[in-house]
Amino acid sequence: AIFCLAARNPGRQFVAGKVPLGLKRKGLRVLVTGGAGFVGSHLVDRLVARGDSVIVVDNLFTGRKENVMHHFGNPNFEMIRHDVVEPILLEVDQIYHLACPASPVHYKYNPVKTIKTNVVGTLNMLGLAKRIGARFLLTSTSEVYGDPLQHPQVETYWGNVNPIGVRSCYDEGKRTAETLTMDYHRGANLEVRIARIFNTYGPRMCIDDGRVVSNFVAQALRKEPLTVYGDGKQTRSFQYVSDLVEGLMRLMEGDHIGPFNLGNPGEFTMLELAKVVQDTIDPNARIEFRENTQDDPHKRKPDITKAKEQLGWEPKIALRDGLPLMVTDFRKRIFGDQDSATT
Ligand code: NAD
Ligand code: UDP
Ligand code: UDP
Repeated sequence: AIFCLAARNPGRQFVAGKVPLGLKRKGLRVLVTGGAGFVGSHLVDRLVARGDSVIVVDNLFTGRKENVMHHFGNPNFEMIRHDVVEPILLEVDQIYHLACPASPVHYKYNPVKTIKTNVVGTLNMLGLAKRIGARFLLTSTSEVYGDPLQHPQVETYWGNVNPIGVRSCYDEGKRTAETLTMDYHRGANLEVRIARIFNTYGPRMCIDDGRVVSNFVAQALRKEPLTVYGDGKQTRSFQYVSDLVEGLMRLMEGDHIGPFNLGNPGEFTMLELAKVVQDTIDPNARIEFRENTQDDPHKRKPDITKAKEQLGWEPKIALRDGLPLMVTDFRKRIFGDQDSATT
């Protein structure tokens, strides 16, 4: 069992570099909601490796047991199949709240469920954090900027979001989750952190989740045409998952609430992304244009000055270096290599 010296508010006691003199840093008890998903499972790996005792709460809507199975049997790891829309009682020191489908295809599948997850789910996790005095980190999104009229996006920008569109269950859900987080901070003195995550890719993404990087990589490997939506001139900025996890942990352990943009400022049009995928996997991969989806943001790129200054964080892995790492994982999973251990 993990011995915790500061039961009431240990997050404050054990932040990196702030361990009281003479005391070795003890593992924390950390809850990761959505920990069986793409980002969550990479975060869990880092926390377990650091010596923390990790509980994953996940309803496995888009997450997979395979993402965390390598921790089964470790006494410092536990997975609870649970929906965050329902209350739960746990005792932990920190909560990383990730539970929420992230791919547009998944979050539009049942929009009412998506907004319930963002609002009721976040409310429950904040209520839990309040009861046990845990520090709470919300994984919000660059989608809170909507189809931005300011470029690149700075945290002070309030965004341009359609409240009644097909993406609203996600965008407005996350905006409400941010509101709830700040209201618990102001009203209940809860220690909170807010990350606004920009498009992230890497191993363990769902192969057919509809997001552009996973689509292009899977299509190129299967010798199918790369489906570019619209004219392909819309832009996104793509961050490798290990950079994001580093940013999330620095944010949790640091002294600043945020919100912080966590993303890679390298900006690509979808046609440029298709070119990088062609160069990486198959120069002969064809491109096929498809009709774009409704309310698709035209451009997106993070201004990360604040994270650089206050968290000492910036991404290290460029798209051309990160993509091959993901391709190795996708190749194994698509072609059924028995050694398809995820990285
Ligand atoms: P993901 O879909 O792989 O992971 C989400 C996890 O949450 C899954 O394991 C899913 O089963 C679980 N989940 C969903 N609804 C739940 C519920 N009601 N109760 C319990 N578990 C539930 O997505 P991801 O890319 O790993 O995203 C993780 C978080 O980061 C999400 O909150 C997402 O909004 C945010 N985010 C991700 C990106 C990105 O590019 N990956 C960008 C911005 C924000
Ligand atoms: N909650 C939870 N686990 C806890 C404490 C609270 O799931 O350990 C839920 C609780 O069911 C409620 C929500 O969190 O729906 C908000 O709790 P809070 O105590 O802030 O509000 P209240 O219950 O007073 O409305
Ligand atoms: N997109 C595309 N082809 C695909 C999937 C997506 O051209 O097969 C485009 C989509 O229209 C959007 C961009 O890629 O402009 C990013 O989409 P994604 O779903 O990955 O993320 P989000 O829209 O949430 O940023």
